Amino acid sequence: MYELLSYIFPSRCVVCGSPVSLGDHDACAACLSSIKPPSRGCPRCGGMLLDEKCMVCGDRAFYPDRNICAGEYRGALEAILKSLKFDSRARLCRPLGALACRGLAEAGLEFDLVTAVPMSPGKRWKRGFNQSELVARTVAGTLGTRYRRLLMERRGAPRQREMRRTDRFINVLDRYAAVDRKLVSGARILIIDDILTTGATINECARTLKNAGAAGVYSLTIARAGIKKLENLYF
Ligand SMILES: [Zn+2]
Ligand SMILES: [Zn+2]
Repeated sequence: MYELLSYIFPSRCVVCGSPVSLGDHDACAACLSSIKPPSRGCPRCGGMLLDEKCMVCGDRAFYPDRNICAGEYRGALEAILKSLKFDSRARLCRPLGALACRGLAEAGLEFDLVTAVPMSPGKRWKRGFNQSELVARTVAGTLGTRYRRLLMERRGAPRQREMRRTDRFINVLDRYAAVDRKLVSGARILIIDDILTTGATINECARTLKNAGAAGVYSLTIARAGIKKLENLYF
């Protein structure tokens, strides 16, 4: 069946352009195998270390019990995430889910529920999907855990993409609300986001879940932002 569909709808790897079968979900095996876990990072949050100080959790309260970064935001992983986000290649959630599961297995974490960083309804409507949710659902399906929507973005929350670091931390405070406190209470939760930059978003999500009674919050960010992106924010 796949062969027939691949013949009718030929597909190419979004990274290198080589032809792939439909079962490969838009990224070839060679490009996927080039994605490696970040080699040097903070043991707690996986963030980049600068002079032994963590750029993410070094100088503030960090609420996730642990954050795992599945890869670096560069090369194949950067191309895949951009393609998923901006070309709506939703099938790419499969290899990203597999990558996330690999990171989780290496860390040996246990949790009861999987959720994703929410997207504002307007943005979701425009894009048609929340990429972190697609990956989170894939992870939950693979591990046999439940996926639940546990957080929502409050109405009128301002955009933070163009803000500098300090503004981002102030801006995200109380940005999210727990959707189902009963479900959150006492649960060990894994929350998934796409990119770890300053960690402000994932930190606020974890804070909100813990305030709602979560017994533990782990987070997985698919890619850790490169030093260039961090430099733009910090210096
Ligand atoms: Zn490729
Ligand atoms: Zn850290």
